[in-house]
Amino acid sequence: MDIPPMHPRYKSLRERYLLVQGLRDGIVAEAGLIAHGRGEAFDYLLGEETTPEAVKAVKAATAMLLLSENPVISVNGNTTALASKEIVELSRILNAKLEVNLFHRTREREEKIQEILLNNGAGRVYGVGENASEKIPGIDSKRGKIDPKGIQSSDVVFVPLEDGDRTEALIAMGKKVIAVDLNPLSRTAQKATVTIVDNITRAIPKLMETATGYRETEQGKLSEMVKEFNNKKNLKQIIEKMRAGI
Ligand code: ATP
Repeated sequence: MDIPPMHPRYKSLRERYLLVQGLRDGIVAEAGLIAHGRGEAFDYLLGEETTPEAVKAVKAATAMLLLSENPVISVNGNTTALASKEIVELSRILNAKLEVNLFHRTREREEKIQEILLNNGAGRVYGVGENASEKIPGIDSKRGKIDPKGIQSSDVVFVPLEDGDRTEALIAMGKKVIAVDLNPLSRTAQKATVTIVDNITRAIPKLMETATGYRETEQGKLSEMVKEFNNKKNLKQIIEKMRAGI
């Protein structure tokens, strides 16, 4: 990328570059570029900064993930293009599994994403090929594929970037769902157990930092943090801020 780091839109241009590159490399789906554009518009309304509400959600999400018996991080093309190194590091800190979970699923993309995660230090990647042998009830075949050793047997699923249908279906399966979504009005944001309204490029490092800080925190304290968090109220505050122009 030949944009100088001092360019005022450097971060945003770099993200676009990574996604276009990801598309060329067969990792990002075409629709992933459109989804990112929608996210960018909401990021503008947030001032392209992590809000205090997002920090609250990150804290509750971290507590929930640390309390989880079998946490799984769901990884799609956009997440891989934007934050593959960080997502692997987060899985290590949280002791969480990584599962490839694609809306536009092809064997080639699954394997490419797996390879990138492994190259970034992942120990094992779930949900690739025949391993994604189970289904999320109510979701059509390709979009609904999950790994019985991964998402299917998880209690908490972290879905940075997900669509509303699958979020609802995962909740219906009895999972706790933690989403990262810049659009507080989306069905994903509204249905998730904890919604972090922030760009994944900021939210994942924030989760890493918070999880590292909470490693010694006792379980009772973590449970309190989860109980005290009110997702609906938090989303309402973010929507009000966006309306007011922050
Ligand atoms: P839903 O199905 O949940 O109602 P949708 O149809 O907008 O919403 P998708 O198109 O599947 O959902 O996903 C795009 C979502 O991802 C958008 O809501 C967008 O705000 C969000 N998004 C895109 N890029 C990012 C990013 N980098 N960080 C956080 N969120 C993002």
